Amino acid sequence: MTAPIVRFAPSPTGKLHVGNVRTALMNVLFARGLGGQFVLRIDDTDLERSTKAYEAGLKEDLTWLGMTWDDTFNQSDRFDRYERAADKLREMGLLYACYETPEELDKQRKLRRAQGQPPIYNRAALELTGDERAALEAQGRKPHWRFKLSGNSASWTDLVRGDQSIETGSISDPVLIRDDGSFLYTLPSVVDDIDAKITHVIRGEDHVTNSGAQIEIFEALGGPVPQFAHTPLLVGADGKSLSKRLGSLSMDQLRDQGLEPIAVLSLLGKIGTSDPVEAKPSLDVLIEEFSFDKIGRAPARFDEAELALVNARYLHDMPYALAKPRLEALGADHGEPFWMLVRANIEKFRESAGWATTLYAPMTGTIADEDKEFCAQAADCLPDDIDGQTWGAWVGELKTQTGRKGRGLFMPLRLALTGQPHGPSMDEVLPLLGAKRAAARLRGEAG
Ligand code: GLU
Repeated sequence: MTAPIVRFAPSPTGKLHVGNVRTALMNVLFARGLGGQFVLRIDDTDLERSTKAYEAGLKEDLTWLGMTWDDTFNQSDRFDRYERAADKLREMGLLYACYETPEELDKQRKLRRAQGQPPIYNRAALELTGDERAALEAQGRKPHWRFKLSGNSASWTDLVRGDQSIETGSISDPVLIRDDGSFLYTLPSVVDDIDAKITHVIRGEDHVTNSGAQIEIFEALGGPVPQFAHTPLLVGADGKSLSKRLGSLSMDQLRDQGLEPIAVLSLLGKIGTSDPVEAKPSLDVLIEEFSFDKIGRAPARFDEAELALVNARYLHDMPYALAKPRLEALGADHGEPFWMLVRANIEKFRESAGWATTLYAPMTGTIADEDKEFCAQAADCLPDDIDGQTWGAWVGELKTQTGRKGRGLFMPLRLALTGQPHGPSMDEVLPLLGAKRAAARLRGEAG
């Protein structure tokens, strides 16, 4: 097989969210695994709703995720090309002018339903004579243009769904050009896929019916029909549609929450597949493991709690070499032992700064009145040289001396030393604090 060329084709009419990132990811995983190319196409034919700000935002998000593209272009730069394709279809008698208003079409649909017929366009415009068209235009009506489907079945072997067949007689002839002359997405997409030599169209299953019509347009324009893969849609953890929540599941929100791009990709690459969801160390691993055969037909469940978990697991395994520059940027680099201790105790990377403060910035811990004496006694018997064994021996000694045990024994020490009831294991914390700082904190002094 020659190296594939795929495209991700977002409309810059909103922010990039987990749903469209999953589509982009499937494209990247497939193409990169076969040494292919990933094209970013900006579907901005809707000039009113598309903005440059959204376009810049989605490019920033893809870059943040590490999904870089080999080529990018905007549909809004290619209107001439679409006009020429439309002319060609007109010459072939496959693009015809229609004059019905939305109200008339609505009425027509209702009538067909009442008559037990499928509510598709009745093709009345195909019967109009030249005189009738001229009369409608004289009334000020502007035509919109429909593609004339063959009425046969459009079939393909979908890389996810297997053999597919759309009876084009059962769907309306799609409108390709609105009455203001603007293009809907259907035709430009086919023209671009032909010109960019796209070999595989990988997109959500909401486009399956479109594909039936688009296959006929590919054929009419003489372009090779690409292979298709339609992936199941994302739903929430409860199985319900995510559509209302997508605003809060945009990449910029996830980034602000402190989530790692690879955690987002690890989750989106695996949900709805036969592989387990795990924190992967890099995009390359996801690429290696990708196969369309692993994608199931059921909707993929996206669970924010699972994302948080994958994020934490990724950090728990993050080597110091990777963490170091980021710790430095936070002013929180205290060497490898610090990172090894902290990484198991954070869910977001930025929390490591809090642990750096706890362990290394002068601070007083928390000591309840009834624990003051006990903590002072603990300071007195703390050895000068502290290593990984010290905590166990020291606490054992205090137990004998004071008769305290369990929580009453170690919690006052943890609180005095770190100010917090939870955190890394104290036998590792103590050597990092050192004897001087630990003793000061146990006496209620800043250390
Ligand atoms: N702009 C279209 C969408 O976001 C692209 C669909 C396609 O991949 O062909 O739905």
